[in-house]
Amino acid sequence: MAVMPFFYDIIRTMKINVYVETQAMELNKPFTYLCNEQVYVGCRVKVPFGYKDCIGIVTEINVTSSVQNLKEVKEVIDRTPLLNEELMNLAKWMSNYYVAPLISCYKTMLPPALKPSSTYASIVYESWAFKKESQMPLTKHQQELIQSISFPIKASEFRKICKSCAKALIDKGYVEIRQLEKNPKLVSSSVDSQFSLTKQQKDAIDKITQSSQTYFLLHGVTGSGKTEVFLQLASQALQQGKQVLILVPEIGLTPMMIERVSARFGSDIAIYHSQLNNQEKYSQYKLVKENKVKIVVGTRSSIFMPFSNLGYILMDEEHDSSYKQDNSPRYQTKDILIQRARVHHCKVVMASATPSLEAYARAYKGNYELVSLNQRVNQKMPDIHLIDMRKEKSMNGLSSTLIQKIEQCLSRKEQVILLLNRRGYLPVVKCSTCNEVMTCPDCGIALTYHKDSQSLICHCCGRSFYFKSECPKCHGHQFYQLGMGTEKLEEKISELFPEARIIRMDADSTRKKGAHEKILKEFETRGDILIGTQMVAKGLDFARVTCVGILQADLAMVRNDFSSSEIAYQLLEQASGRAGRSDKAGNVYIQTFEPDHFVMKCVLSHNYLSFFQQEMKYRHLGHYPPYVYLCTLIYIHKDLNKAFEIANKEKEFLNSLKVLGPIEIHSRKDGKRVRLVIKSNTKEELNQKIKECFTYHSSLKTNVKLDINMYPNRLED
Ligand code: ADP
Ligand code: ZN
Repeated sequence: MAVMPFFYDIIRTMKINVYVETQAMELNKPFTYLCNEQVYVGCRVKVPFGYKDCIGIVTEINVTSSVQNLKEVKEVIDRTPLLNEELMNLAKWMSNYYVAPLISCYKTMLPPALKPSSTYASIVYESWAFKKESQMPLTKHQQELIQSISFPIKASEFRKICKSCAKALIDKGYVEIRQLEKNPKLVSSSVDSQFSLTKQQKDAIDKITQSSQTYFLLHGVTGSGKTEVFLQLASQALQQGKQVLILVPEIGLTPMMIERVSARFGSDIAIYHSQLNNQEKYSQYKLVKENKVKIVVGTRSSIFMPFSNLGYILMDEEHDSSYKQDNSPRYQTKDILIQRARVHHCKVVMASATPSLEAYARAYKGNYELVSLNQRVNQKMPDIHLIDMRKEKSMNGLSSTLIQKIEQCLSRKEQVILLLNRRGYLPVVKCSTCNEVMTCPDCGIALTYHKDSQSLICHCCGRSFYFKSECPKCHGHQFYQLGMGTEKLEEKISELFPEARIIRMDADSTRKKGAHEKILKEFETRGDILIGTQMVAKGLDFARVTCVGILQADLAMVRNDFSSSEIAYQLLEQASGRAGRSDKAGNVYIQTFEPDHFVMKCVLSHNYLSFFQQEMKYRHLGHYPPYVYLCTLIYIHKDLNKAFEIANKEKEFLNSLKVLGPIEIHSRKDGKRVRLVIKSNTKEELNQKIKECFTYHSSLKTNVKLDINMYPNRLED
């Protein structure tokens, strides 16, 4: 008889480097620990740090260290790396490029359930019953029962079938109960549309597939069928056994895109966006990691999915600002996708009807290959009409022309979309007795009255106050009714059109999970008028919408920011693009006080190129991107003087570069804020200097917080 060898799998103690959460002020400094267990780079470990335990990410193993009395790792959390080599390298690149602590980059890349700060707590398990082989005798009833069940089955359902038998089957070893991670719900698919491609679509697809270029800018007017181009490219990649990532800007657009993708590709897709809960995010993430799905449709964070073999990255609405993350690391999805495309040798297609200036400038220079769809599938661009509000009779901000056009549209049984990019009821609440304006105590800006929730809300920091309809200063009860937000517009429109079914879509009405989807479905099936903020300008494709009205169109242009014209143009052109997408002609009515503004003129003629050329001139004159590289530094402290003092010191430190400021900008909950804007002709110089400045800032040992925003595409205020 062979003797079983008696051995231990000996793992010698090794020294490993770990990044832990608390190192916020350090860009790149690991701590060394001893580890007695098998561990890999990219795994989470629990380590003692200071007086408590922390979760960290292992970045190196078998390091040499001369430090005596190294502490030991308490627990190795992951058996296999959470982040593979590609993603570990990507995090390093991000940390360097955005001047952000490495640990914050790891955190950004992982779904919440797997972030260094959490253990597997939020992962939900389910009991499942599995069939097993056994020799134990069964009664006839038990035999019949076990044959009638299709295993595996949820344990709860198994027990429901027959309580007493269930226990017997388990005891006799025919059935085993196992805990499994809760399985993600796969997307149910709707009917796919069948049509032959237009000539332009065909040419675009050929150009992209045959070119040796990696990056493409698909500039297609609204309604030119860009989505279909995406789907065709995706299907080619799938045929080659490759994965596809379809990026969409925000959740509002996701339901329509998901529907189209799933109609085409069945359940072979994972979906990833901010409205999923932690468990759902985790299970979608796992689907990708385990290679169970080939297509991911998601918002910006899905760029960090653990792909193994990407064939295409398809980015819809390339210009959208939600592709930029608004807290550290303030990454730009486009920068990240370029890094990933390099590793995966895949092609990248960025699509928009209104490309960002920066993307179009790159296409102009030849860095991206420009692919155009300059005609709608239905051949008809909507007609744009500017309503000059200086001359027009208006009531409550609604011109009589627009009211009349809405009426005509409804009488033809067609649908209307009204854009007013301001949520709430009243943007300013002012006492008509003492002229006091209700303002946010933290931010100092006017509070918006929300009638739905009877509250005053600060749109800067989100604080909300119950509104008693009484002035806190003079106790008066009368207020001016100045201005209008979407809630008030909804009220006015329903007074004017009592028969119409009106649906409102803004950040307030879409807070609940699945609300976007519900609202859009409702509008499609039985709505007459959809009222909303910029959300309604994006991606919506409804055949019966023939009239689009834009109120307070000048709002976007008054921002104190180099990119305000660009944002205004995009919003107006995109909103216009919702009209007349099918067989019926579309008309767009834009209420403006500045009909001669060049943005209005370009929208009027759907002339993107003309907009691009004029706006580039302004950027050139003002030394703004894409002609220079920008970085903003924001200094945050309770005491404004303290923030100014540090900002001035660091301005001095950066004196070899062009520095604007410091100026005070809107404060937020965490304190007063002071901003520097730094300009440079090269990325390298800017990056180097800002890193030095970060180190300098750390050396000042001040409690003024520094928030770095490398390469912003707009200035924050
Ligand atoms: P875009 O994204 O460019 O604004 P979409 O991809 O939403 O445009 O397409 C607009 C509409 O045209 C959609 O309803 C789509 O189903 C339809 N469509 C796209 N391609 C074709 C085609 N070749 N023939 C007929 N209809 C098409
Ligand atoms: Zn506030």
